[in-house]
Amino acid sequence: MSNINIAIDGPAGAGKSTIAKAIAQKLDMIYLDTGAMYRGIAYKAIKNKISPTDENKVLPMLENTELRIKYDEDGQHVLVDDEDVTLFIRTPEISRGASDISAIPAVRDKLVEVQREIAANNNVIMDGRDIGSYVLPNANYKFYVTAKPEERARRRFNELKEKETLGNKTLHDILEDIITRDKNDSTRAFAPLKKVDDAIEIDTTEMTIAESIQSVINIVKKA
Ligand code: C5P
Repeated sequence: MSNINIAIDGPAGAGKSTIAKAIAQKLDMIYLDTGAMYRGIAYKAIKNKISPTDENKVLPMLENTELRIKYDEDGQHVLVDDEDVTLFIRTPEISRGASDISAIPAVRDKLVEVQREIAANNNVIMDGRDIGSYVLPNANYKFYVTAKPEERARRRFNELKEKETLGNKTLHDILEDIITRDKNDSTRAFAPLKKVDDAIEIDTTEMTIAESIQSVINIVKKA
């Protein structure tokens, strides 16, 4: 029997990862956070003082970069050249860098190859921007999870505060970051963020986390 693949796409802060993690646990699947992979590449560039928009410098760096995903009891870890960067990639600077670097087609090619291989070998729920449209066009289920920008900014602000990676950013700064990132992600030429026709849209603006999770579970269980 072939593996079950579930795709969850949508903008930053809509609740994709929270939903995906819960579903993975309930349905005994693995969860792949593809955003963390773009963040890992951005982390290496920034650490090496390479601008994430500078394709001429990013490309040679990419050729000398090994990115691996590992799972343990804490969940997914991203390893860049064997360094576990999982705890360093949640800052606003890396968010912006990931959005910039992800517009470079060679970066996407490299990471999509890893993502497709994981999907071919596992029951996986994967979240990102282009999973249903590009990475796994034949996924068994496709969801597009969204919410109003102000609500997404509020959630991201609280999350960063909790993780103590907020720095001196205000809620207004986070909202601006989110709006810039949405624009970047949905207007890039290659595999932009978009809702595909066969994805089920879930707007979580007015939903609690439990309600958002339940709405996806209901659909998967019904089918
Ligand atoms: O999901 P997350 O906010 O961690 O993603 C960081 C950035 O990585 C996004 O803003 C987006 O530009 C990029 N990304 C992408 N394709 C994916 C996942 C993330 O382009 N499948």
